[in-house]
Amino acid sequence: MRISVIGTGYLGATHAACLAEMGHEVIGLDVDPLKIESLAVGELPFYEPDLEELIARHVASGRLRFTTSYEEVGPWADVHFIAVGTPQRGGEGAADTSFVEAAISSLARTITRDALIVGKSTVPVGTARRLQDILTREQDPTLEIGLAWNPEFLREGFAVKDTLAPDRIVLGVDADHHAETLTAVYAATVEQDVPVLVTDFETAELIKQAANAFLATKVSFINALSELTEAAGGDIRVLAEGLGLDPRIGRSFLRAGLGFGGGCLPKDVRALQARASELGQERSMRFLSDVEDVNLRRRERAVFLATSMLGELRSKRIAALGAAFKPNSDDVRDSPALDVAVRLFNAGADVAVYDPKANDNAARRFPRLHYVESLDEAVAEADLILVLTEWEEFARLTPRALGSVTTARKIVDARNVLSVREWIAEGWDFAALGRKYEP
Ligand code: NAD
Repeated sequence: MRISVIGTGYLGATHAACLAEMGHEVIGLDVDPLKIESLAVGELPFYEPDLEELIARHVASGRLRFTTSYEEVGPWADVHFIAVGTPQRGGEGAADTSFVEAAISSLARTITRDALIVGKSTVPVGTARRLQDILTREQDPTLEIGLAWNPEFLREGFAVKDTLAPDRIVLGVDADHHAETLTAVYAATVEQDVPVLVTDFETAELIKQAANAFLATKVSFINALSELTEAAGGDIRVLAEGLGLDPRIGRSFLRAGLGFGGGCLPKDVRALQARASELGQERSMRFLSDVEDVNLRRRERAVFLATSMLGELRSKRIAALGAAFKPNSDDVRDSPALDVAVRLFNAGADVAVYDPKANDNAARRFPRLHYVESLDEAVAEADLILVLTEWEEFARLTPRALGSVTTARKIVDARNVLSVREWIAEGWDFAALGRKYEP
């Protein structure tokens, strides 16, 4: 099939490359010419494991191309996927769906034959139905242009794997033949016995937002329990294991630490609350505001621990290990790690940030922090070290190895990846989120 993917960020670039891998002819389109320039020569303008190789391979094979021109893809593709951003609207919790609306309008203007438009972006319930009205108003009335919603569940850091072998495929449609078209698009995946759920627009939209709200709730649940173990004693890691071994609960997303962040969970949790209010159902999602509060309190706790250890932050050097919102990603959108680094800087500390992949993105957002190129450089002059993102490089740290490159003997493990006993035994002043701290 000939497929266009509109928006080539984390989601769209992955989707385009994976569709080419599934055997389709694909054109990725973005309004950002710099992004397109680099993708067109097989280079990825951000970091995502395995993706650059896949893009380069299919650009070379001729199955994957990139453009900024709707006039090129409109008359060309059988199916158009929309993967543009739906960020939080400035000053509000609600999602900004204007990029999706712009993409629909551009497609309606340029499509010259029967086609199917498929939304992949995460949108508030009710959006697809509204977009369908825009489409009907603006398209050539002699054409049959369908709309479907097919939310995406990929995780950054595992995006290629998750797209080629997803847990489930959700198809929100208003006509059976649109589900058939999409099942044909995903034939290579469907053959691997991936469950396909065919439903209406509203359910499809809500499944995605509900999944993110549930995951955020799980993270905040264990982090709320951290507040109890910090006060009463106890080991939050063992507590999480004890909970997660119950198959009704499950182990994933029960890692206590600095909380959730990134370009999806925080904004989706807020957007779901905002949409519930618009629908007159504010109370149904009210608990999500507690989920958010717990999440933000973890950052305050990390700052509190740093301050307790140093006494005074002014003129103290802190090594912030990690800026990305999670490991194996360079994404710093709503990153708890970067937020803690900024809070410490604002409180007067001299903060040296080192992230294996996210320094450049972080520097674009907060240029006033001091960014360094290696872990050794970050810790060399430090008074205190903070582990803020659980990159493998940081999880492997040992007190002896680190002690040989720094005179600091104070460390805060905000991600619960280090062994308390080992560090204390080597004479370090050690604190971790979820643990009682007694200097
Ligand atoms: P992103 O910001 O990385 O990419 C969005 C891209 O859309 C940008 O490159 C932007 O230039 C482009 N764009 C904006 N308006 C456009 C237009 N009118 N025409 C063409 N291109 C346009 O965002 P992302 O992380 O890829 O997220 C995209 C959507 O996917 C969001 O709704 C997000 O919630 C959802 N999602 C993201 C992930 C993830 O892990 N990143 C996972 C699942 C779902």
